[in-house]
Amino acid sequence: MMVKSFSGGVYLPHYKHLTEAKPIERLPLPLELIIPLKQHTGAPCEALVAVGDRVKAGQKIGESRSPVSAPVHSPLNGIVKEIVTRQSVTGEMVECVVIACDSEQEMAVYPAEDVSSLSAQEIKDRIREAGVVGMGGAAFPTYMKLSPPKHVDTLIINGCECEPFLTCDHRLMLERVSDIIVGARLIAKVLGVSKIVFAVETNKQDALDLLNEKIRDEEGMEAVPLDIKYPQGSEKQLIYAVSQRVIPTGKLPYDVGVVVQNVATAAAVKDAVVHRRPLMERVVTLTGSGVKNPGNYLVPVGTTLRHVVEAAGGLNDNAVKIIVGGPMTGRAQSGLDVPLIKGSGGILAFDEDFLTEQDYLACVRCGKCVEHCPMLLYPNYIGQYAELGRYEMAENWGAKDCFECGACVYVCPSSRPIVNFVRQTKAAAAKRHRESTRQPI
Ligand code: SF4
Ligand code: SF4
Repeated sequence: MMVKSFSGGVYLPHYKHLTEAKPIERLPLPLELIIPLKQHTGAPCEALVAVGDRVKAGQKIGESRSPVSAPVHSPLNGIVKEIVTRQSVTGEMVECVVIACDSEQEMAVYPAEDVSSLSAQEIKDRIREAGVVGMGGAAFPTYMKLSPPKHVDTLIINGCECEPFLTCDHRLMLERVSDIIVGARLIAKVLGVSKIVFAVETNKQDALDLLNEKIRDEEGMEAVPLDIKYPQGSEKQLIYAVSQRVIPTGKLPYDVGVVVQNVATAAAVKDAVVHRRPLMERVVTLTGSGVKNPGNYLVPVGTTLRHVVEAAGGLNDNAVKIIVGGPMTGRAQSGLDVPLIKGSGGILAFDEDFLTEQDYLACVRCGKCVEHCPMLLYPNYIGQYAELGRYEMAENWGAKDCFECGACVYVCPSSRPIVNFVRQTKAAAAKRHRESTRQPI
């Protein structure tokens, strides 16, 4: 089948060889969990437990009445030690339930149920109750994404994993392919779509081959090979590559008849609906030049980076930078005592030799950022205006359409921090909006 792609973007070194052949391994369970009550896009949850309460694995410990939210569960048995505000891996200050975990325990087993007679609403209710969110990074509540206000005809299951270093989705496709297919069928039933496309970059040919073998006799399913180009896994680029449909500015995938779900989310949907198992743990790729034993590890949500790193063998002495997420869109961390959340697919640690950070210079008008921007923007102008504090002009050049993929930064010979300029522009726009809508007292 022809390999598909999109305009712009960059070909990055993969660095996936460090972990792509490492099977998913469960790490020793932590003795303490710090479980953020906001692990998703939307409203934070309120704690349903108090200090001193005994909690059971799978128990719901946080819930919100907001329509855009997702409940939070305790992955382990233990006692609520404190409820505190801590920094999340996203940089936000978030209320967290700290649990002192029982020292002797195993992850609970949830038997399968026959779900063939469940209605679409019943499936959606189970997905919501299990706290399933998009696991590709954005962590949007999945039940919301499965309630599009318009008719959709295509479900894309995103197995691109286009950021360098990350291999957790790749391993999941190799090790839980049947669960991903079951999850995809359940999502398709909720949406009422008959076409399911599994989209995978060709650097995961073994996963493509396995998918093709498993779906050979399945009606309405196909596996589409995609070019190994960043940001292939971003929704707009993915939808274009698969269907040649263009999402207009300010619109969403459902506006062109498509819903996209990540492969890990599809597996979590299967767990939620067939096993009534809440989303309480995830596979995370621990890798980078500063890591002693790179691998793909199954970790309860709320486990600190420190526990993951130490249980996996530790960091090299010269590790100086820690990132949660991928190297292009992930977030640098100031320490290891932050907890992993449902959307955290990677912990990267780098030593000084690997990093080539340098001061940025003036734009030399080479046009490379324009050539490679997958949104067809002019990142050079956005950067120049934002640097001067002329944020409205930066907005006029499309800063709001930028999804901060970092492709422009990667190709810029002057190392201009265009994503930072975009974030400043968006923050200024949000501030202007708040001030313009403030009611007089
Ligand atoms: S301007 Fe935004 S969307 Fe375009 S390449 Fe830069 S970060 Fe990506
Ligand atoms: S890539 Fe950098 S130097 Fe070249 S035009 Fe863009 S911002 Fe300017």
